[in-house]
Amino acid sequence: MSNLRIAIVGGGPAGLVLARLLQVNNIPCTVFELDQNASERDQGGTVDLHKKGGQLVLQQAGLFDEFQRLSRPEGQAMKLLKYDGRVVLDENESGVQRPEEFSDRPEIDRTQLRRMLLNSLQPDTVVWGKKLIAVEESPTQAGKHDLHFHDGVEDGFDLVVGADGAWSKVRAFLTDQTSGLFGRYRARTVGDRSRTAAPVAYCFMFDEGRAILAQRNGNNSIRVYACVRKPEDWLETCGIDWASPQEAKQKYLDEYFTNCAPELKRAVLDADDKAVPRKMWMLPVGWRWDTRPGVSLIGDAAHLMTPFAGVGVNLAMFDSLALARAIVACGGNAEHMPDAIKAYEQEMFPRAEQFAQRTARGLVGHFSANGVEEMATRIAAR
Ligand SMILES: Cc1cc2nc3c(=O)[nH]c(=O)nc-3n(C[C@H](O)[C@H](O)[C@H](O)COP(=O)(O)OP(=O)(O)OC[C@H]3O[C@@H](n4cnc5c(N)ncnc54)[C@H](O)[C@@H]3O)c2cc1C
Repeated sequence: MSNLRIAIVGGGPAGLVLARLLQVNNIPCTVFELDQNASERDQGGTVDLHKKGGQLVLQQAGLFDEFQRLSRPEGQAMKLLKYDGRVVLDENESGVQRPEEFSDRPEIDRTQLRRMLLNSLQPDTVVWGKKLIAVEESPTQAGKHDLHFHDGVEDGFDLVVGADGAWSKVRAFLTDQTSGLFGRYRARTVGDRSRTAAPVAYCFMFDEGRAILAQRNGNNSIRVYACVRKPEDWLETCGIDWASPQEAKQKYLDEYFTNCAPELKRAVLDADDKAVPRKMWMLPVGWRWDTRPGVSLIGDAAHLMTPFAGVGVNLAMFDSLALARAIVACGGNAEHMPDAIKAYEQEMFPRAEQFAQRTARGLVGHFSANGVEEMATRIAAR
């Protein structure tokens, strides 16, 4: 058993997968998570795990069989529509088979993914209700770092891994540019579920400055996002009262989607739970930090992207695998930890940049008048 002291901040997919991979290699670690418990917060919709991404990682973590039991290997068929309802592509109708790389992508609900990962960890790995405020170099132990939480300090870590997502406090230790770091991405989503089963996995409408995205989830439900590209203060100035979901959705549709096909608007209106407005953010494409011994980042903390290439979870899990391999390779020896971190980061940065570029292109396409035609052409080219 290694005597390394490793802290993972954040119990999302990145942090939990890293903890699991370390534990199967007999390397102890502790996950500090902001949520009070596993069910405190809605984890969001469904994610598809790619063969060379999340699926590969779960195989290494010894969780692939369990994933197969929980996931839904239903068809990945996609439907692309213009704003007026014209169908540009319906993969169920086209009869074209996707290459395996794009078809073998079983879906799993995030809640189930998190529960599966939590169940795989040794008892008391996750310390709940710990909000990290700041990371500091230890004033008393050379080369180690301390974690300042809202309720006290945990000290003396050989490695601190920031898996704390979009607004990472660990990232703030590695760079002093945090406040200006985020590229502004001006879309808002309204997420809702309805009890209607979707005939396709994804149904997308892209148009200039607006998009409607519907996604099949588990429990016979769909989740619908209606997005607009607006200035950053739009949410505060739009005059929509989101606390009254039906009125909010009607007003939102009247204002921004009024000339859309009735079935598109119905998809938003029929969704029967709350309307949740969200701003979306991304880090600049290709952003990196200077390697520092003892602290690193994985997942969204390292390379936050918008969801328009559908890769965030897969990349986050792949980071965990890459970092776990580097830590294992250093043989549980704290002296070699700086080399392990450097090796991981040098491998991760170009990979993240490549996907960030793809996501940035997806962002433009999702909000442009010919976005569906372009996506249909890309799919045909595969
Ligand atoms: C609308 C939407 C749809 C998406 N769809 C897809 C998709 O289809 N496919 C895909 O691959 N990706 C998708 N993504 C991206 C994906 O959700 C993220 O990339 C992924 O969740 C990143 O995992 P993570 O563990 O790095 O971060 P997170 O999932 O954000 O987890 C971070 C964890 O850290 C905790 N935390 C935060 N701050 C602190 C703190 N100060 N102290 C302690 N703990 C803290 C949080 O509570 C959380 O549990 C989507 C994202 C969005 C917003």
